[in-house]
Amino acid sequence: MIEVKNLGKTFKKKVAVEDVNMYLEEGESVGLLGPNGAGKSTTISMISTLLPPTKGTVKFNGKDVFKHPKELRPVLGVVPQEIALYEELSAYENMKFFGKVYGLTGKELEDKIQETLELVGLKERQKDAVDTYSGGMKRRINIAVALMHDPKILIMDEPTVGIDPQSRNYILDMVRKLNREKGLTILYTSHYMEEVEKLCDRVYIMDHGQIIASGTKEELKSILSNEETVTIQVEELKKEFSDLLSSQQRINRMMEGENEYNLIVSKGEQLLGEIFDYARQTQVKIIGIHVQTPTLEDVFLHLTGRKLRD
Ligand code: ADP
Ligand code: MG
Repeated sequence: MIEVKNLGKTFKKKVAVEDVNMYLEEGESVGLLGPNGAGKSTTISMISTLLPPTKGTVKFNGKDVFKHPKELRPVLGVVPQEIALYEELSAYENMKFFGKVYGLTGKELEDKIQETLELVGLKERQKDAVDTYSGGMKRRINIAVALMHDPKILIMDEPTVGIDPQSRNYILDMVRKLNREKGLTILYTSHYMEEVEKLCDRVYIMDHGQIIASGTKEELKSILSNEETVTIQVEELKKEFSDLLSSQQRINRMMEGENEYNLIVSKGEQLLGEIFDYARQTQVKIIGIHVQTPTLEDVFLHLTGRKLRD
């Protein structure tokens, strides 16, 4: 449906997107996962034809979207990272305005506004000015606006950043329903691994302007199928302790968090004894140890040596 080849964007001298290849099939829910500054927003701005690329192509049903913008735009809904609403107007008035922009009028417009408000769960608050809304509610209206023209593809740029957990769950459930029940094709951008794990069938992991891994969640995790992660929570980090951990050959990777160490070790390695020994030797107080099968976060850690939320 959408095919991206060797896409790149350079701002003056800053390379924001180096070389991105990806595709989107009809009905899929695809995640674009990466830390801040990875180049996610720049990539999706180009895919949605809002930003011309420096190199590469984006094709929709085989046609270049920059040469044939009228093919993709009518079927595409974009939820930008920045909320784009008229704050002093009510949700209803905002939707009416954007509905008209999309060419809706009369009863069709009215029905669509009510249907979409229902979908985002804000029908009751529609007469209130947007500036009285919580961040999460504004996001939901932003999503509603992107859905007014019945798009077939929905591209969302970090729609849950900085909002309350309740709105976040509401949005996640909604996106899942749009995909599973209404058949919308979704491209969901996030730096939250859990969201992408919950929502997406297939994932692209991006870092420093490049796709560093891609595949189904299962495929990506199989990169680490012979490994497991050990999280050691401590009262405080101590250099002597991390030095001992680093010197241990059977630990494939180590990362320090705020009050914890994250280790990637080969499956079946009996390391807990050593870890407790090291802690005793260096007088580090261990509060908890958790052993888990890998998550997408661990795949990212493995590939880059950093956590997604650095
Ligand atoms: P993400 O959405 O993954 O956080 P962005 O696509 O917003 O990443 O940004 C990727 C990189 O490109 C960042 O280093 C950012 O500072 C830079 N960048 C983005 N937009 C511009 C711009 N208009 N001018 C210059 N640099 C930019
Ligand atoms: Mg961004």
